[in-house]
Amino acid sequence: MKHAAALDIISRAIRAKVCTKCCQRPPLSEEWEPGWKRPCEGGCAIFLNLPRLTQIVAHIKDTHLDAYESAVRSSVCQHCTLTPTAGDYCVEQFTRSCPLSRYLGDVVEVLSKVPQVMACDNEQAAAALAGVSR
Ligand code: SF4
Repeated sequence: MKHAAALDIISRAIRAKVCTKCCQRPPLSEEWEPGWKRPCEGGCAIFLNLPRLTQIVAHIKDTHLDAYESAVRSSVCQHCTLTPTAGDYCVEQFTRSCPLSRYLGDVVEVLSKVPQVMACDNEQAAAALAGVSR
């Protein structure tokens, strides 16, 4: 599957799994189509870091979320510019108001399907693999 098509499917899968319940979602957006892009996506720690998060998930392959949290802290949070306290003592991470921190388990679950989605040569089947409809 082409990279752009796979990225589109994975983005829609994250929207369906995370954006529909996100504490930062726009009011009433839980009633939108699950795969629709929310206006907050351009400033979202999950979507802004999707390539890096995909690399982390591909390399770690651990059953414990701690391993992913640690990798995200060292290679994403240290470079984050979304909040003034980003880094080791990020208030948004401590309070779990950062969507990436709060929903990392869901993000890992979706991104763990990237290899299968990429390997699929049929878009409909790839979308079904990722848990979204085409
Ligand atoms: S903040 Fe991010 S995860 Fe939350 S609804 Fe917006 S785009 Fe989705």
